Amino acid sequence: MTSMHPRPAIAATGLRKAYGDHVVLDGIDLHVPAGTVFSLLGANGAGKTTTVKILSTLIRPDAGDARVAGHDLTRDPDKVRAAIGVTGQFSAVDNLLTGAENLRLMADLHHLGRADRRRRVAGLLDQFDLTEAAGKPVSTYSGGMRRRLDLAMTLVGDPRVIFLDEPTTGLDPRSRRTMWQIVRDLVADGVTIFLTTQYLTEADELADRIALLDHGRVVAEGTAEELKRRIPGGHIRLRFADQRRLDAATRVLGQTPAVLGQTPAALGQASHSLGQVARDHDPLALRVPSDGSLQALKTLIGRLDDHAVEVDELSVHTPDLDDVFLALTGDPTDDKVTTR
Ligand code: ATP
Repeated sequence: MTSMHPRPAIAATGLRKAYGDHVVLDGIDLHVPAGTVFSLLGANGAGKTTTVKILSTLIRPDAGDARVAGHDLTRDPDKVRAAIGVTGQFSAVDNLLTGAENLRLMADLHHLGRADRRRRVAGLLDQFDLTEAAGKPVSTYSGGMRRRLDLAMTLVGDPRVIFLDEPTTGLDPRSRRTMWQIVRDLVADGVTIFLTTQYLTEADELADRIALLDHGRVVAEGTAEELKRRIPGGHIRLRFADQRRLDAATRVLGQTPAVLGQTPAALGQASHSLGQVARDHDPLALRVPSDGSLQALKTLIGRLDDHAVEVDELSVHTPDLDDVFLALTGDPTDDKVTTR
């Protein structure tokens, strides 16, 4: 991850798109600083690809303004196209050609001279670990190699903003990590990445900021940590050796929401579900709502020590992006977004 840059690579306001009476985007605003990774999350059909298509000039919005890489999307679409790269959900490589031929074709489309072309193709093959397979037809490549080639082809034009629409879908964990490293290297070079993904760990790993799309609107935006703090669910789990100790702990902690280390008010939106010690599916365990901070942990342990209650096991649970996604977005099978 990188530090914020003042100049936005993408700035969109009030983007709307409907197909018939099906409103897909109902006025979304996006602000992506240059040299950062921005991830757009949402259930199937939430409008992620539609957003990518609009911002990459493939389709026009019904309303709204956007500037991408400093150019107005509707007034200067050619300049936007020249500055961006798009890697879609389905690989754009030609299976009948070799990896090197695919890259050369792309270099020709970008009107590179012979020497530039040779240098660029060799450089990308090396960067994406495809030199050995360069002369083989893409039909013989693995899914991971194909994705790497696809992204390498996007980079031939040296884009400053890259849209990656679900770039690691179907890849095994090792290939996914290779792609993540490639993304990090690009960002280190100042490239801006607009990422859509179904893998929340991917957004957690890569994104400087994340926006959650639901029913045509951005329902939450922030860093992964900010989003996780927005929802309840963090707790300390305590397990006891026997019922007597569990009962003693329930008495001690049951009356003391202060064990959280914070007042409910300080916890903002999560306050409604905090305060009460809850039972766990394990009959000898308790869950104490907590932000998981060291201070909260110390207070809790101190409290139990004061009353000589022995704890057998202790673990801290913080919400992950899956919890955020499930809490803040609607039913993923509900494909009927807003209807005008
Ligand atoms: P996924 O995660 O499944 O790829 P997504 O968030 O990328 O989903 P989009 O592909 O943007 O979703 O689609 C959003 C909605 O718009 C869906 O309900 C889809 O059926 C609808 N849609 C997209 N393109 C068209 C089109 N050309 N005509 C009619 N409806 C469309």
